[in-house]
Amino acid sequence: MDKREFRTWSHRASDWSADYLDTISDRPVRPDVQPGDIGKLFADSPPETPESMEAIFDDFERIIPGGMTHWQHPRFFAYFPSNAAPAAIIAEQLAGTMAAQCMLWQTSPAATELEEKMIDWLRQAIGLPEQFSGTFQDTASSATLCAVLTMRERALEWSGNQTGLSGRETLRVYASTGTHSSIDKAMWIAGLGQNNLVKIPTNDDQAMDVERLRAAIQADREAGMLPAGLVVCVGGTSIGATDHVDTLCDVAKAEDLFIHVDAAWAGSAMICPEFRSLWQGVEKADSIVFNPHKWLGASMECSAHFVRDPATLIRTLSIQPEYLKTLGKEDIVNFSEWSVQLGRRFRALKVWFLLRAYGLDGLRMRIRNHVAWARTLAERIGAEPDFEITTEPVLSLFSFRHRPADLDSDLDTHNRDLVEAINNDGRIYLTQTQHDGKLVIRFVAGQFEMEETDAQIAFETICEIARSHESGR
Ligand SMILES: *Cc1c(COP(=O)(O)O)cnc(C)c1O
Repeated sequence: MDKREFRTWSHRASDWSADYLDTISDRPVRPDVQPGDIGKLFADSPPETPESMEAIFDDFERIIPGGMTHWQHPRFFAYFPSNAAPAAIIAEQLAGTMAAQCMLWQTSPAATELEEKMIDWLRQAIGLPEQFSGTFQDTASSATLCAVLTMRERALEWSGNQTGLSGRETLRVYASTGTHSSIDKAMWIAGLGQNNLVKIPTNDDQAMDVERLRAAIQADREAGMLPAGLVVCVGGTSIGATDHVDTLCDVAKAEDLFIHVDAAWAGSAMICPEFRSLWQGVEKADSIVFNPHKWLGASMECSAHFVRDPATLIRTLSIQPEYLKTLGKEDIVNFSEWSVQLGRRFRALKVWFLLRAYGLDGLRMRIRNHVAWARTLAERIGAEPDFEITTEPVLSLFSFRHRPADLDSDLDTHNRDLVEAINNDGRIYLTQTQHDGKLVIRFVAGQFEMEETDAQIAFETICEIARSHESGR
């Protein structure tokens, strides 16, 4: 592709993107495809000779969008949202064009300095004290892995990277049963082992039982094991489980544990001061992650990882072979020393565009609307005689199930079938989870362009399909 063609096709791509966003609500949120349907449409081998951009772009339009689940659809109410605000999309194109590689200050000075500034803007936006700095990791899973590695190295007095773990003390990390699977995976990858992630049961309020945490730590010490860290959950993925951050941090500090807070989804809402009571005490943590790529509008991947003392993170992850040394510049920040990956994308650019294009007020308004609309919808569903709310809204997430009086099949099966029927209908998209041994249906509001009418459509769709489904059983 020559430079003239690049210009033409970039314009074509922007037109396509604008049209896509304009007409996205006409599409079913989830495509009507079976596994393998799309794969068979691609050529089996790479071409030996160049193909025209016309042919490539035609194939894109013919095959890809119709085979995608549309996360930017205003009636995407499944999982957690993954938003790409238009301003962030534009920044991504610019960053891609520069082929920015942001591993060292020297390899992209503006990117490093903007990253420092954007992390600080976000720190202020969510109300963390000044001593926190941080970096953009690709995902919350990576940030949590970095935190668990830090727990490990700190507990082993910085010798684990050198000697390996063979013959060392057994390290223990504590988390509630409501935490995300990325914590389990971090334990695997850090070499600490699934069995050493101690899952503390939650109480009726879905928060970790503090007394049982204390007891578990004590029992582990008595058994000769080494408690290393605590992962605190704020807005868990299943039903929004949230620990008592303040009390847990006090216990962990008294036990000299490293504290990591996983607020991957809920953290975005902390730009609204009225929601900050959810994580009251968070300033006592050592490490905090939230994903601007979920609820804030930065596109995938963008995970803000804050640390109280970057030296612990750097001591865990920094490695400086000669070819990575930045000669004559000792006091600069090289963000590859704060993360697992060496090569890094220019994520700060989209955050800068995003925060400036919408302002914190514009972003707050969206989040406040999502929370308000989810609460109203939960009330409306709860008021219907054949539905029950199974977990109350945590920010914009709640769960419910359909419970018709005269049902002769099993409730779990009935609700599993109902989710499938709703999703096949295409107007809205929901997912299910297990809670208290029951299959329940989750609803999360959070798409950037969602409007109140979309919640209304969700209500109508859910009631209509549940009731037709019921009569057809
Ligand atoms: C989404 C989510 C994660 C995982 O986030 P990734 O960025 O996809 O790795 C972890 N924890 C919680 C609470 C989440 O909501």
